[in-house]
Amino acid sequence: MKEYDCIVIGAGMAGLTAAIYLQRAGKKALVLESKIYGGQIINTINIENWPGDFKVSGAELMQKIYQQAIELGAEVEYEEVVEVVSGDDKIVKTEDGEYKTKSIIIATGTEPRKMSDAQTKSAGNRAISYCATCDGALYKGKPVVVVGSGNTAKHEIAYLKNIASEVYHIHHDDPIPEDAVAVFVAIGRVPNTGIFKDLVDIDKNGYIVSSEDCRTSAKGVFVAGDCRTKTVRQLVTAAGDGAVAAAGVIEYLSGKKAE
Ligand SMILES: Cc1cc2nc3c(=O)[nH]c(=O)nc-3n(C[C@H](O)[C@H](O)[C@H](O)COP(=O)(O)OP(=O)(O)OC[C@H]3O[C@@H](n4cnc5c(N)ncnc54)[C@H](O)[C@@H]3O)c2cc1C
Repeated sequence: MKEYDCIVIGAGMAGLTAAIYLQRAGKKALVLESKIYGGQIINTINIENWPGDFKVSGAELMQKIYQQAIELGAEVEYEEVVEVVSGDDKIVKTEDGEYKTKSIIIATGTEPRKMSDAQTKSAGNRAISYCATCDGALYKGKPVVVVGSGNTAKHEIAYLKNIASEVYHIHHDDPIPEDAVAVFVAIGRVPNTGIFKDLVDIDKNGYIVSSEDCRTSAKGVFVAGDCRTKTVRQLVTAAGDGAVAAAGVIEYLSGKKAE
């Protein structure tokens, strides 16, 4: 079984930043990612609040950060983590195999909230999307519906109005209009933390409980980015968490050596 100083779960902003800091400190890090590197920002066309770039796309920004992590020697494997067995050494299980590690950084972020069962049923065979920028062009000249009432829903409506023949706007749990061919869901996000519920403390909304030191209730397990309890979920705070969690791991590993 391959062994690492730290396994980082998730290759978004938080996870990749953590990998950069770990590699620069001479630690052997593996990043495990279930989809593609970059995380939730990957499809955003214009980011205007990443310091140092007036305008940058999510894909361009995350490509640079990924490249930096790889060039520093971080390994990235595309495997979904399904279980973590805690102990002094920890075993991280994926759909394809198992890895041994002295420490873990959970950086699994959030995913779009799904519609209720009743609303999903009323959508029938219509296409369901969580990203108008990614999928809107598929419905050029056709009627679509946006579900949700927050800023993301407003953004999706404005974007789709330039493409679709009609953009219906409904709220969570309203029935889907008959003639809409696709449903764009924008009803918030939920943390990807279900698999960690027996490993670390999680709050009532599913976020991993942690303060600014990015420590969790489990020894040697740290958390970074949008999946932890915090007030501002943004790229800069995810990057900050990645650095703090990596520093926590480095301190933890030096304590282990001295034991
Ligand atoms: C549409 C949109 C626009 C935004 N615009 C901005 C903006 O302009 N400026 C800004 O600062 N912030 C913006 N944000 C917020 C910003 O994207 C997030 O705060 C940041 O990306 C969080 O990074 P993260 O690394 O914590 O999580 P994520 O980016 O969510 O990354 C988590 C990664 O973990 C992976 N993962 C999850 N579960 C597993 C598992 N079991 N095994 C392996 N891998 C797993 C996921 O696939 C994902 O790649 C935006 C968010 C959205 C959705």
